[in-house]
Amino acid sequence: MTVIAIDGPAGSGKSTLARLLAARLGFAYLDTGAMYRAVAYLALREGVATDDGASLAALAREARIAFTPDGRIVAAERDVSAEIRRPVVSAAVSEVSAHAEVRAVLLDEQRRIGAAQDVVIEGRDIGTVVFPEARVKLFVTATPTVRAERRRKELIAGGEHVDADETLQAIVARDAYDSQRAVAPLRRAADAVELDTSSLGIDQVAEAAREIVLARLGADS
Ligand code: C5P
Repeated sequence: MTVIAIDGPAGSGKSTLARLLAARLGFAYLDTGAMYRAVAYLALREGVATDDGASLAALAREARIAFTPDGRIVAAERDVSAEIRRPVVSAAVSEVSAHAEVRAVLLDEQRRIGAAQDVVIEGRDIGTVVFPEARVKLFVTATPTVRAERRRKELIAGGEHVDADETLQAIVARDAYDSQRAVAPLRRAADAVELDTSSLGIDQVAEAAREIVLARLGADS
């Protein structure tokens, strides 16, 4: 099975790229951030404290997080695709995902999905921890201002009222937390190719990624 690992900070464009690559290659697509978001959402809903790793891990296990064929995410038997994108979930997710117990539950699930099919997987630790042997690794970046602006547009499109400065601060804080945690921090794998999307449109990003993927897969076969 071929795994394409795409990591990077929030708003770097990695989700759009991962989805596009998966569609073009005929691969499955796995958004691991959505899984952590689902746990954070359930924790907020159930009143489980974000510093209680054991209870959060139990929640993650019991939630039976799954994706439908059309890309919706189901947790605790409900479609939570819209709820997990809310700013209140974004604000809580880093603390939830920093717990080793939570990561262990989701890691097993991510590896099971990845071993079953050709897949493009996106997250923070895919190339470093989840699939260190992935054939292709991309680390997607962009400046904080560009990332915040992309996130702001997404939120506005989703009907949220957001302020540009607040969005920038939230993104910078989340990246700092994700990069500084002890377990599986956000980090570029030594063998990942970095793609800075700051001044690129989606078509240019997709073309650059396609060349990297072809070079890597071609070199391996
Ligand atoms: O990708 P997205 O921004 O939706 O991820 C939400 C959060 O989930 C990240 O900020 C991070 O805290 C966590 N995450 C993680 N490991 C992954 C994917 C996401 O810790 N592989």
